[in-house]
Amino acid sequence: MEYNHPICRISLIIPHKNIPLMERKITISQIRDAAYQAYSESKEVSGGANANYIPYLANVNPELFGLSVTLANGTTFNFGDTEYKFGIESVSKVPTAILAMIQHTPEGVLRQIGADATGLPFNSIFAILLEKDHPSTPLVNAGAISACSMIAPQGDSSEKWKAITDNITDLCGSAPQLLDELYESETATNFNNRAISWLLKNYNRIYDEVDMSLDLYTRQCSLGITSSQLSIMGATIANGGMNPVTGKQVHSREISSKITTMIASVGFYQHTGDWLFTSGIPAKTGVGGGVMGVMPGLFGIAAFAPPLDDAGNSVKAQTAIKKFMQKLDLGIFNGDQVTIVPE
Ligand code: GLN
Repeated sequence: MEYNHPICRISLIIPHKNIPLMERKITISQIRDAAYQAYSESKEVSGGANANYIPYLANVNPELFGLSVTLANGTTFNFGDTEYKFGIESVSKVPTAILAMIQHTPEGVLRQIGADATGLPFNSIFAILLEKDHPSTPLVNAGAISACSMIAPQGDSSEKWKAITDNITDLCGSAPQLLDELYESETATNFNNRAISWLLKNYNRIYDEVDMSLDLYTRQCSLGITSSQLSIMGATIANGGMNPVTGKQVHSREISSKITTMIASVGFYQHTGDWLFTSGIPAKTGVGGGVMGVMPGLFGIAAFAPPLDDAGNSVKAQTAIKKFMQKLDLGIFNGDQVTIVPE
């Protein structure tokens, strides 16, 4: 049997006959139809509430809902409010972790931050006390503040900010926009994150000036992004670091694999296992209501709807992405060899 990997196109000869790999072809129109149905069927899903600990987020229209899918060839399908700029919040932890790996290598990030799930809420102080030898992962608040402190050039807030936003622009193929009102709202209320930052400083896990590192984290969370942009970011990661819309190689294939591992292990915080078990796709959430999923070699997907469950994950976005995966019978661990074909 010949196995063609969708990204690296290496042919392997698999010697045994009865390996239960299923070769499947999915057409682009099947993907579009599944996305449309998942969107339509999730529209009326209720439950959850807007994040209320950040005043700006409490006031976002809870009815907004969008679903976007970007294939590894750059084709994007958008349904609903996919051009609305919502707060990227914790989804921003993904691009900054990528940037830290570009600048310091994946091993450097593993050493200075870690790559472990905490099993605890995103803003947990307890998690830091439990694992004070490292802040666990760049995909929770502690590790994300630590990642901001690692970004070069050291000591220069405006150049660090430029590096962070340029990287997001490269991943999405278009620029995010700072939501000033959200930034002010977060800065005025981020007392827990201030405590996290100084506790990390105590453990020598902040690698630049503390307040600057926290400010960069707060600012990156306050970037406005669309679900269409996030699905392109997911597709860039799924596509071995090459943005399928712009053709730019943003990061290495190795970093794609490392960041997808991190997303799979902690993307939904204390609900990550349940999410991966039921959805079959590594995904990262934010309290702005965004969820970004990565299906290696195939596509990126993003959904946005403000009401959240108790762990801070969008209820409607979760439903839509799960329905999409189920309709196409996809799952990262199901062993199928899936190829997307034109028709
Ligand atoms: N800015 C938010 C915070 O630090 C992000 C949290 C999230 O999206 N889970 O609390």
